Amino acid sequence: VCSMSENYIKIESKSSIDNIAPIRICVATFLSSLNIHIDELMDVKTALSEAVTNAVDHAYDEESDSKIIVEAKIRDDEKIIITVKDFGKGIEDIPLAMTPMYTSKPENEHAGMGFTIMESFMDEVIVDSVIKNGTTITLTKDIRKKSTNKV
Ligand code: ADP
Ligand code: MG
Repeated sequence: VCSMSENYIKIESKSSIDNIAPIRICVATFLSSLNIHIDELMDVKTALSEAVTNAVDHAYDEESDSKIIVEAKIRDDEKIIITVKDFGKGIEDIPLAMTPMYTSKPENEHAGMGFTIMESFMDEVIVDSVIKNGTTITLTKDIRKKSTNKV
């Protein structure tokens, strides 16, 4: 389910691996209506992918009927704000989870670099998580400075 206006998009989706690419394409299409530099669009897509992948990989034990909600909005001051919300198990120790190379699933070839990538490509990464209730990742990026400095 996807609803969109000029400066807001909301996508409700099942937390299936098959939905990661469509979500990324939806948000990228929405953002490309902005005067956003291609490099910044790539940064946002990369960070968004990591957040959505985490919701799919880590939030739920079973895939059945589990939901994720992705919202993106653009504020007047040209800040992009993206939230990725799941209703899964939550993160017990947020600082540990955000530590570079920490993964709770080493056996599944996870690199533990998702949060590190989000932090390096976005201006701010906020993790709100409640055990057994779910996790919301808020990613923000200011596009004003760079888009006026375009070469
Ligand atoms: P990776 O996904 O490779 O394990 P990340 O840096 O992306 O590494 O995430 C680190 C850890 O944080 C994960 O291994 C997992 O334990 C936890 N985590 C991340 N996102 C979620 C989420 N949405 N729900 C529950 N746990 C999560
Ligand atoms: Mg990850």
